[in-house]
Amino acid sequence: MENIDWLNYKGLEYRDGNLFFNDVNTIEISKKYGTPIFVISEEIIREKYRTLKKVLNSEYKKNHIHYAVKANSNISILKILNTEGALFDCTSQGEIYTCFKAGIAPERIIYTGNMFTDDDFEFSVKNDIIINLDSISQLKRLIKIYEKLGKEKKIISFRINPEFGAGHHVHDITAGREVKFGILEHQAIEAYKKAKDFGFERFGVHQHIGSGINNPYNFEKAAEKYFSIIKKLASSLKIHFEFIDFGGGLGIPYHPNEEPLDLEIYKEIVVKPFKKLINIENLGEPVFKIEPGRFLVAESCILITQINTIKDNGYKLFAGVDAGFNTLIRPTMYGSYHHIMKCNKNKKDKILKYEIVGPICESGDILGKERELTKLIEGDYLAILDTGAYGYVMSSNYNSRPRSAEILISDGHIFKIREAEAFDDLLRNQIVPDHLK
Ligand SMILES: *Cc1c(COP(=O)(O)O)cnc(C)c1O
Repeated sequence: MENIDWLNYKGLEYRDGNLFFNDVNTIEISKKYGTPIFVISEEIIREKYRTLKKVLNSEYKKNHIHYAVKANSNISILKILNTEGALFDCTSQGEIYTCFKAGIAPERIIYTGNMFTDDDFEFSVKNDIIINLDSISQLKRLIKIYEKLGKEKKIISFRINPEFGAGHHVHDITAGREVKFGILEHQAIEAYKKAKDFGFERFGVHQHIGSGINNPYNFEKAAEKYFSIIKKLASSLKIHFEFIDFGGGLGIPYHPNEEPLDLEIYKEIVVKPFKKLINIENLGEPVFKIEPGRFLVAESCILITQINTIKDNGYKLFAGVDAGFNTLIRPTMYGSYHHIMKCNKNKKDKILKYEIVGPICESGDILGKERELTKLIEGDYLAILDTGAYGYVMSSNYNSRPRSAEILISDGHIFKIREAEAFDDLLRNQIVPDHLK
């Protein structure tokens, strides 16, 4: 994308040399609230949801968008998406608990855990949450919990591993024979047959092939395989699926050279063939589900960090900032690119190449490699883009650094939606035994 379109697309704009995000001056908020700080735009989240919903509605009205809570589980974000009409996909009891605190009804939640414990099952059954099972062995344990609690059986669904995965990093490819997720084709019939034998009468089916997929054609092979498995299940076991879930994985452009995911093509690759399948195979009118996390929230947030140290060691030029991989781990963990911009723009200075590095005592604490920026000085602020998904939620207290605050921009107003942690938060759960007191 052209640079100017890119800024506009990301909700950014320079006014008199100051970077504005969603009409708010990034330098002013940094000074007022301190750094590092996650700055989130309510409007962008709503816009992403509406864009996606519109595309799905244009092809198949009976669709549910389940927001993947793990991408960003701040209660205010859950509430924003809840008011848009989103449903939710959770990977743990803690995420379900957070959804409840956000006022989300249990019937709007689906639980796609993996390596479920009996305690996970008990929590879900007690709270009437639909589960996407991850292995055949879990079925027997789930049944025992239903019997113990004397509850009526809900819809049951298995996560199918269609073997064709995709994603921005090998850690994020969640289909294939080598990965731990779901059940393979040759186990699918057995799984659903067992579920029927155990007395389940209502069924769904699920897949999630990976994360950060920008090329919609990368969904194609998995979708074809998934369709053929669904076809087999429906015909051999006479299963009537109430929902067919395609998981998340919809990517966003992190780099100015990348194009956004073309939702029209996604529709052609996934939604249209789904419609064809249910028509040809007489599968009724199941709910079409997807579970995007990154797509809905990644671009809603910038992380602002302040430069404390400029160091030229004769080989490299380092800009040391107050955010590190304790604040944003994606660059260190996945080698991910996050675009970094100056909050104050001074056009006249010449462009230099910087390593943008954090304060953590590991040389891998690099937020941006060889970034070309006009001359930086100590005290300047930098905006790290697209940090709304897998940003705060993956942050840690490593090096005993308190986690950052989060603020929400909503219609030009600013709300603090999470306090920065204090030192006491670091010590909260520690217990000193008597002999050390
Ligand atoms: C992580 C995850 C998602 C969301 O992935 P994104 O790439 O953020 O869209 C959806 N479904 C399941 C089961 C997941 O584990």
